[in-house]
Amino acid sequence: MKETRNGMLIVISGPSGAGKGTIFKKLLASDESLSFSVSVTTRGPREGEVDGVDYFFIDQAEYDQLVAEDAFLEHATVHGNSYGTLKSQVQRIMDSGKHVVLDIDPQGAREVMRQQPDCVSIFILPPSYAELRKRLYTRNTDDPVEIERRLGNAKGEIDLMHLYDYAVVNDDLETAYAQVAAIVAAEKQRTTRYFPVVE
Ligand code: 5GP
Repeated sequence: MKETRNGMLIVISGPSGAGKGTIFKKLLASDESLSFSVSVTTRGPREGEVDGVDYFFIDQAEYDQLVAEDAFLEHATVHGNSYGTLKSQVQRIMDSGKHVVLDIDPQGAREVMRQQPDCVSIFILPPSYAELRKRLYTRNTDDPVEIERRLGNAKGEIDLMHLYDYAVVNDDLETAYAQVAAIVAAEKQRTTRYFPVVE
């Protein structure tokens, strides 16, 4: 069977604490046809994070330069730091024949959806606000003021869920991951990007 496929751009987003990062990592580890675009950020590296692998860690002047050069597919300020998806990274992955997956905040996701309407957008939801609050406190990476700010943002982000192609509730990680993997599997078979040749 001869077949060709066009690469797709998959956007995984959702409120802080919904678990999109965990699902994203699990998805990438399970499917070799997927690759992720290394984002740029102005926040400092956390312990164990490697420059060029987890993020490109840059300062504000370098970031402003990239904005001026129109280097970003999308960029946004998230929880006080600047983040951006480089067009060059996305292009490099597409050229390698893989599908690109982005784990980005809802502002960035909406920008990608505007720029690339044929992307596949997946919104990850928490099962409840109470559970989201619990996860943010358990994660222990932010102070209570920051957590309450993120919870406030979550309400507005969830209100805009209808802008995405798919919604997945992350109540149980395995179930949510399986649903995301099923969406990706189905999207790969779309006749707009999959071209089997029957001989
Ligand atoms: P963290 O700093 O904890 O790695 O990520 C914080 C938030 O920034 C997460 O919600 C993550 O999805 C988001 N993020 C990471 N990279 C990008 C990016 O390139 N663009 C946007 N808009 N958000 C990003």
